[in-house]
Amino acid sequence: MLHHERLRPPSCDYPADEWNVIEKAFHPEFLAQSETMAALGNGYLGMRGCPEEGGPNAENTTLINGFYETWPIVYGEEAYGFAKTGQTICNVTDSKIIKLFVDDEPFWLPKAKLLSYDRRLNMKSGTLDREILWETPAGKQVSIRSRRLVSFENRHVAAISYCVTLLNAKASVVISSEMTPDHPGSAIDSDDPRLAKAFSGRVLHPRASYAKRRRIVLCHATEKSRLTVACAVDHVLETSCSYADKTVCSDDFGQVAFTIEALSDRPIQLTKYMVYHTSQTASVEELCGRAEWTLDRITAQGFQPLLTSQEQYMDDFWRRSDVRVKDVREDRTKRSTVEIQQAIRFNLFHMLQASARAEDAGVPAKGLTGKAYEGHYFWDTEIYLLPFLTYTSPRIAKNLLTFRYKMLPQARARAKHLGHRGAMFPWRTINGEEASAYYAAGTAQYHINADIMYALRKYVQATGDEQFLRDCGAEMLAETARLWLDLGFYSDSKGGKFCINGVTGPDEYNAVVNNNAYTNLMARENLRYAAQTVKSLQATEPDAYNALVHKTALDASEVETWIRAAENMYVPYDEKRQIILQDDSFLDREPWDFQNTPPERYPLLLFYHPLNIYRKQVIKQADVVLAMFLLGDMFSPEAKKRNFYFYDPLTTGDSSLSSCVEAIIAAQVGDMEKAIRYGMAALLMDLADVGGNVKDGCHIASMGGTWMTLTYGFGGMRDNDGTLSFWPRRAPDENAILRFPVTYRGQRLEVEIGLEKVEYALREGESLLIRHETEEIRLTRLNPLAVRPVSRR
Ligand code: BGC
Repeated sequence: MLHHERLRPPSCDYPADEWNVIEKAFHPEFLAQSETMAALGNGYLGMRGCPEEGGPNAENTTLINGFYETWPIVYGEEAYGFAKTGQTICNVTDSKIIKLFVDDEPFWLPKAKLLSYDRRLNMKSGTLDREILWETPAGKQVSIRSRRLVSFENRHVAAISYCVTLLNAKASVVISSEMTPDHPGSAIDSDDPRLAKAFSGRVLHPRASYAKRRRIVLCHATEKSRLTVACAVDHVLETSCSYADKTVCSDDFGQVAFTIEALSDRPIQLTKYMVYHTSQTASVEELCGRAEWTLDRITAQGFQPLLTSQEQYMDDFWRRSDVRVKDVREDRTKRSTVEIQQAIRFNLFHMLQASARAEDAGVPAKGLTGKAYEGHYFWDTEIYLLPFLTYTSPRIAKNLLTFRYKMLPQARARAKHLGHRGAMFPWRTINGEEASAYYAAGTAQYHINADIMYALRKYVQATGDEQFLRDCGAEMLAETARLWLDLGFYSDSKGGKFCINGVTGPDEYNAVVNNNAYTNLMARENLRYAAQTVKSLQATEPDAYNALVHKTALDASEVETWIRAAENMYVPYDEKRQIILQDDSFLDREPWDFQNTPPERYPLLLFYHPLNIYRKQVIKQADVVLAMFLLGDMFSPEAKKRNFYFYDPLTTGDSSLSSCVEAIIAAQVGDMEKAIRYGMAALLMDLADVGGNVKDGCHIASMGGTWMTLTYGFGGMRDNDGTLSFWPRRAPDENAILRFPVTYRGQRLEVEIGLEKVEYALREGESLLIRHETEEIRLTRLNPLAVRPVSRR
């Protein structure tokens, strides 16, 4: 339930626009939010959207996915098996700074007299565009136009095109292009557990610095994680005005300053190319060399080819991923469809930016838009983001699953350390090792193991990538199945059923409980899928089976033990209410006093000691309700209704991962009012700053949840049994048309749910079997279209 009005107006007013998020004024008080909103990234390199000149308290954050420093976690009281080493993503050299001076007057946004201001996150071209008209105190009018991009095609590359024109006078102009590591103010210190740790000393230590004309290379390394980053910039200035330039370079600073005798109406066009290379093994010389090679290539081509490739990448992305809505009878009292379309695209765009080139890395909870949650990878990736990727960019989904596979050695070691068999994936991590310092809401979330295997199954079903299942998946399945078998036991007090005690489910407000239903249900899936995969390999692929036995020392009899545990899995149930219990003792807890909890005391985690929360019936985020979505075909519509209406009022939605799930189930049970309310909360989580913490970064999981709300919720998509099915339902007063593409087994299907009919079109591919309600439909290249009436609720 939305216990408090969380749909606030946007901090800045973003005018309705389908392809752009536009700022029409500079709001210094919302700078941090707008830095998040306008962040650019490609999954490898991320730059927050601070103005080129910087701003008050601007952090000028530039992040590289997986570039982190470690620190010893200090506990007041130690215990066996606690995570020992913290990992925190850190700022790398910030290279996007461009300062402007006109007749020695600095252009400083908070003070400048702006005759016009327009900055837009352009989601069609994948760029951040800005156009400013500044009047200096001396009355000189200066046009400043810039375009920034972080390249999808060239993952090490970013570039800024920066053009200054004096409109009504001549002037002496200085453009100072700078770079500096570890910008002051990069440390965050707060009691909010969601934020990143503050480092006390410097994190990046100089290893090399040199300049060659307008090119500067700075190389730094972290001390403990032993990561090295080479950042190199180069500049091209084009103008018919006369100018001179000067380059300065030291360990921690690089600057190319252009002094220009600017004449009226003569553009001064600076292009700045920025390149980052990182490594744990390459030498400083080699890394600097790599950065220079990339610069050579990029500067030889120029800005336009970079822009063209960015636009092509975006076109291709939207073709595969765009979800469109159109309200045919626009209701002026509600948000317009253009605003909704803008928010949808904003979410899809940031998911792309978080994941596109995340190669050999995961996706941090905030993508690369901020350092909150320390740049860690959580279950957010597998449960919230991978569905979108699996059905729109399966190659990226595979990269992320492969990254998990590469973590298997650490996961095995962690399981062993905790006295378990098999493998135990970390709750939060960058380098594969567990980094959660609070075990009750960290390590205890064993469900992440089943979550990863769930995402694996979806990926294999949707792509048919049996080879990945054979080469990597089977091994992860066997090891996680072993973990579950080891963790649980056949309990006499539960009639000999297989129980899993002492875990935390997705809901972090009920920690270290026995038989969390979500965990048990997902573990059951994990065990079944592991057994089915191993058996099928044994029967049909002896070589792959033998390789698996070799890699895991698997004993054929193990599989039967997995099946037995799965078939005897205990799922707590309350006969009286006919609901699944979130855990064994959920009903024994005292109800939370919602009546007397004022809105400003949410999220509860910031205002109450964990114990005060743990002993009450109060839920942070969808738990049983999430299981009902993920394992939808195990629950009848009536069961979904009963559970939803029982748990919804107890759910605070204090995690941004909740609203989308509530929206999906609300839509599935036909409660369209709730579905829309929750759906809007998820959709606008970032654009309208619903949680009040957008300044710390985008909520990538909620963004993924938005896609799921539209497809699985409103679009009625189902994929539990391996066939892509649709069961769209319309409320009598619904006016919107919804259209979305789905990539399935290399083919592209487009689904359009209209007011009276639903249309399925095979846009790419030979032949695809889908289901509309209970009817099977085969679409082929010759017969690519099927139209069916849409059912009313
Ligand atoms: C949620 C977790 C989530 C994490 C990172 C927490 O607040 O409770 O489920 O994984 O945020 O997004």
